[in-house]
Amino acid sequence: MVGLKVRAMEEVVLRLKELLFPSIADIAVLSVDVNIEIVRVEAQCTTVGAACPGCGTWSTRVHSSFLRSPADAPSAGRGVLLQLRVRRFRCRSTMCARRTFVGQKPGLTRRYGQRTERLRSTLAAVGLALAGRAGARLASVLGVSISRSTVLRLVDALPEPEIPPRE
Ligand SMILES: [Zn+2]
Repeated sequence: MVGLKVRAMEEVVLRLKELLFPSIADIAVLSVDVNIEIVRVEAQCTTVGAACPGCGTWSTRVHSSFLRSPADAPSAGRGVLLQLRVRRFRCRSTMCARRTFVGQKPGLTRRYGQRTERLRSTLAAVGLALAGRAGARLASVLGVSISRSTVLRLVDALPEPEIPPRE
């Protein structure tokens, strides 16, 4: 009986991972807490190693771990409070000025990012369609609070569209 229950729980956790972090590898959902307004998701990066952003050396030596809470896109009409446990690695290179660094999750987080990549791209799309104040207003309807200058900054940070070479 207990074995069955554990299997059912594992199944639920796997489905949650698929639902909340599709196409993002090495991430485990630890818990999901839902109330009327907010979905609180506790997750953990399970990457065994990362490349140092300073010198590129691969490291699997975990220095420590800590919680990050990047703002995430709302889910099913509720705000999402993401609590992501990330690992700090030690750089193995003696030539490198950087002693430790944080392993990033491509597609989910970036250095110094206060938002997940999906929230960032949603807001940038809103900003492209409705710059500045109107964009900030629509974002607040979507349940995300953001200033008009931040909307514009996200649009500025988008890569330039590729112009096909003329024949
Ligand atoms: Zn390094």
